Amino acid sequence: MKSRRSFLLKTGLSALAIAVPKIESFSGGSPKKFAAIRPVQDGPVLKVALMGLGSYAARVADAMQSCKRAKITGLISGTPSKLESWSKKYAVPEANCYNYETYHQIKDNPDIDAVYVITPNALHKPHALGVAAAGKHVICEKPMSINAKDAREMVGFCEKAGVHLLIGYRMHFEANTLKVVNMRRDGAFGEIKFFQGLSGFRIGDPNQWRLNAELAGGGAMMDIGIYSINGARYMVGEEPIWVTAQEVKTDPVKFKEGVDETITFQMGFPSGVVASCLSTYSMNYLDKFFLNGTNGYAEMQPSTGYGPIKGRTHQGPLDEPHVTHQTTQMDEMAAIILDGKKASIPVDGEEGLKDMVIIDAIYKAVKTGGKVDLV
Ligand code: NAD
Repeated sequence: MKSRRSFLLKTGLSALAIAVPKIESFSGGSPKKFAAIRPVQDGPVLKVALMGLGSYAARVADAMQSCKRAKITGLISGTPSKLESWSKKYAVPEANCYNYETYHQIKDNPDIDAVYVITPNALHKPHALGVAAAGKHVICEKPMSINAKDAREMVGFCEKAGVHLLIGYRMHFEANTLKVVNMRRDGAFGEIKFFQGLSGFRIGDPNQWRLNAELAGGGAMMDIGIYSINGARYMVGEEPIWVTAQEVKTDPVKFKEGVDETITFQMGFPSGVVASCLSTYSMNYLDKFFLNGTNGYAEMQPSTGYGPIKGRTHQGPLDEPHVTHQTTQMDEMAAIILDGKKASIPVDGEEGLKDMVIIDAIYKAVKTGGKVDLV
């Protein structure tokens, strides 16, 4: 770890003469009435290397087989047998397979435009910086880092390197989610007053990295609670100005110091909206959003799982067809990177940073027992 970090620090940015397509200004005005996302169909293909060939990378890799604009062209793993089997399965040439000691060589590989970082949370920062230093675009899993300071550094580094930094917020491209967000933007719920976000699952193996404070950067909040934080922001359409939070730990052996089991938290928004949320590693099937305004409501359950997303509003059921989230995400990210498309709900590093600032504040609120202001 240390040697990789010092390599990154020593790596200059002089070789990063990569051109980033100019982002076109948002042609928009207000979004079309309750419009669902218009799928990306045509255009150049984003050549993506996957880094960290674990369980989520496997899901992404399978989903990418149906992509029109993104293709797996490279693999990065510390396990030679995984490189061998994945390269066969996804027809990736051996020359495009790297390990964590050699992956900086991607800078000379025109077959790779972007690297999707799907490693444990605490490694996102060093890996993202390594990819950016090699002049390649970064797609990074959530949480983008383990605190706001690191997230800010990642945003600044990628900006200087002239590469995109996108966070794997797949829900930002999900059709029923976008339908609700567009209804809210169009005023269908009236003035928004309240949001509830419940995010959790029951975690198994006590030896996994998710329960290791150093690699996970925390516990359920970093992993699953972030969905309620991020969801509150896109459902309400405002940024919170304060948080309060309370922690409950029923199993201090499994959930050691620095690894949160269950946190309830509240967020206050400038208009007076209040969000009441729960993040846990101790309850299964907990995946629910509820939004209420003066004129209507939306409820989604499941709200952030792999789908199909189900729910209803006061106007009727949410029935946009299910498309594998990661397929849509990668096609849309290709359009963002290659065409300068603007996401309806942002997925850039700044968006990820906003969630990290809130997570820092929630942990502070747990410690102090008080209200933490965000502005
Ligand atoms: P995983 O344990 O299945 O995979 C992690 C991979 O990282 C493994 O292949 C492992 O070998 C590799 N790795 C590299 N260096 C490592 C190290 N020092 N220690 C441990 N592993 C190391 O985990 P996962 O479920 O695939 O999660 C990976 C990332 O993806 C996490 O950040 C997680 O939050 C994110 N994720 C996102 C979603 C989503 O829906 N967006 C879903 C699941 C996971």
